[in-house]
Amino acid sequence: MDFNSLKFETRQIHAGLRKDDTTGSRGVAIYPTAAYRFKDCGHAARLFELSEGGNIYTRLQNPTSSAYEERVAALYGGVGALAVASGMSGILIVVTSLASAGQNIVVSPHLYGGTYNLFRHSLRRLGIEIRFAESDSPADFAKLVDENTRALFAESMGNPTCDVADIEGLANVAHAAGVPLVIDNTFGAGGYLCNPFDWGADIIVDSATKWINGHGTAMGGIIVDSGHFAWNNGKYPLIDGPSEGYHGLNLYEAFGPAAFIVKCRVDGLRDFGASPSAFDSYLMMIGLETLSLRVRHQVESTRTLAEWLRGNPNVKKVSYVGFEDHPGHELAKKYFRSAGSGVLTVELEGTLDTTVKFVEALQLAAHMTMIGDSITVVTHPASTTHKQLSEADLAAAGVTPTLLRISLGLEAVEDIINDFNQAFEAARS
Ligand SMILES: *Cc1c(COP(=O)(O)O)cnc(C)c1O
Repeated sequence: MDFNSLKFETRQIHAGLRKDDTTGSRGVAIYPTAAYRFKDCGHAARLFELSEGGNIYTRLQNPTSSAYEERVAALYGGVGALAVASGMSGILIVVTSLASAGQNIVVSPHLYGGTYNLFRHSLRRLGIEIRFAESDSPADFAKLVDENTRALFAESMGNPTCDVADIEGLANVAHAAGVPLVIDNTFGAGGYLCNPFDWGADIIVDSATKWINGHGTAMGGIIVDSGHFAWNNGKYPLIDGPSEGYHGLNLYEAFGPAAFIVKCRVDGLRDFGASPSAFDSYLMMIGLETLSLRVRHQVESTRTLAEWLRGNPNVKKVSYVGFEDHPGHELAKKYFRSAGSGVLTVELEGTLDTTVKFVEALQLAAHMTMIGDSITVVTHPASTTHKQLSEADLAAAGVTPTLLRISLGLEAVEDIINDFNQAFEAARS
């Protein structure tokens, strides 16, 4: 079936579904198996040399994960997807599939904390140079590109400030340099709010832990390949060149537009082993069936809460990308459905102590570090994720003692507003 002719809401339910003629099961089966029986030795040999597709071992593929991968590929209109154990392992596999020691990638200065550490420390230690652009502007990325650059990397919307990347501008810089643009599209919510492929991005990586799963029940990452990048420009001998691990097989010749996502699987998953469990892939598939409904509700609730907070005397500043005064608003209008996000940040009046009191008095909203969950989440960076930082470093990171990040859940927003109201009262007393 050609899913491209169907709306997002239909694809999120129908793509990847299997008709089970034996049982008639409507649901996707969970295959809790490590390995798969070969039909005979010839079959096994063909699977191992990649001349025939099929299941060998769950570190490489699993039928439940395959169904989930097909669904996500269809949502983005990509040539293929690869499910991995976490968003972080997805980023690791993408970057190491593109760049080797002595080469570099040029990245946005506004990155998720985990990604920043992977880039700043672990990859550097392995000899992959990460060049941080001075700003998110395509011109600042272009300044750092040289003949050893192998990718550009940015987040479609940054966590937690909601800065928006100029995806089209970055894609132009990347393609002029003969390298792909990689977008972390976690905030694009599985493609419902933003599909970077529509603007020239070549590879998407998404923390499925967040909006794709949507219920805070599993960790996962997903890599999606647009299939549009031409790997035969001499920069990618590991994709268009003899593959040492597969008896000289050339992945680009064998798999054409799907060569990159195949490489992520047959080298990345094989060697790094960050495969998801079948049960977690099942949870992701269930999450996807309601993705658009959930995200629409969360974006509406975020706007309602942001407007309510903006007029509240306990609040110093509300930063919501859907508001015109947000620095990312113009780009969000271009790249994100209704310039929306399910996340906002707010600076309260008062002190570190009154903010801690407020957070501890919340009864519905959960105090944890998470986004995209069905439960509303309030995070206080100064006492949690950023607690180790000095006051000067906090200021540099834009984290003030009363700053909160809020990710709206699926509750009735009126109840969340009432919860905030009683917590403000408790904080004042
Ligand atoms: C959470 C997150 C990640 C990391 O994903 P995990 O699933 O937690 O490994 C990467 N990028 C962004 C933008 C995130 O929010």
